[in-house]
Amino acid sequence: MEPSPFISLHGGHSGEFCCHAKDRLEEIIQAYIKRGFKRVGITEHIPPVNDRFLYPDESKQGLTAQDLYQKFTLYMKEVNRLKQVYKSYICIHVGMETETYTGYIPHVEQLIHDFTPDYIVGSVHHVDDIGFDYSKEEYEKALCHCGSHEAMYLRYFDLQHEMITTLRPFVVGHFDLIRIYDDGYEKRLFSPKIHKRILRNLHLIKKMGLVMDYNLRPLARGEKQPYLSQSLLKTIKALGIPVVPGDDSHGKDQAGGHVARAIRTLEKMGFDTHWPEPKLYR
Ligand SMILES: [Zn+2]
Ligand SMILES: [Zn+2]
Repeated sequence: MEPSPFISLHGGHSGEFCCHAKDRLEEIIQAYIKRGFKRVGITEHIPPVNDRFLYPDESKQGLTAQDLYQKFTLYMKEVNRLKQVYKSYICIHVGMETETYTGYIPHVEQLIHDFTPDYIVGSVHHVDDIGFDYSKEEYEKALCHCGSHEAMYLRYFDLQHEMITTLRPFVVGHFDLIRIYDDGYEKRLFSPKIHKRILRNLHLIKKMGLVMDYNLRPLARGEKQPYLSQSLLKTIKALGIPVVPGDDSHGKDQAGGHVARAIRTLEKMGFDTHWPEPKLYR
């Protein structure tokens, strides 16, 4: 049997275009080539809709939403250039990772219109406009605002449902990211109210024919489970939803990290490793 080809459809954040990543995008592409990738998706974060949604390290540097839009323009130019330059070595799918803060729908539609990416990754990093995955402190802030872990998870999965319905992303990013700083997540994902929302979203993903990100960033941080906890992966397999690895790399050392292991897990569970071709739904 042919070995399944390496792939990552979520990652390639670079220090060149993202303040919390490292290295130049070209070095990251070269790292993928060196590690045997023939196909990769590069999905830089979209610029914020306004200054209110700058990441802490962006505000610290005195950047504005306008600056980040300019930077994103350069990202799109560069990733398309690299796509051509390296096309005989690797197929680069040009993507971007979206958000769910106030105003995200027209904002993302405008970005799709301006840059026509090959596909988008639909992610939720905010609940009620509070970013929760940047640090434990930010997570606590969002938790305090929601009142309980349960309320926070419910809000997250409702926002995710709205985002999937409106943006129809080719890839749904780190589906269970909401558990990032919650030690009790294993039980929480199966508490009745939350699990009902999870199943609702999974059925929507199945119905819309979308792909799920098997997000390996937690492994790079030394954690045990990718996003798509093992317990959810079983349900997803039973539903027949395609799952594709995403290294969520933020530097050349992380490019392709843990992908071989992720593919072995997916193969063992009987997932199809004929990876789907990214496309843009309009
Ligand atoms: Zn990032
Ligand atoms: Zn993300």
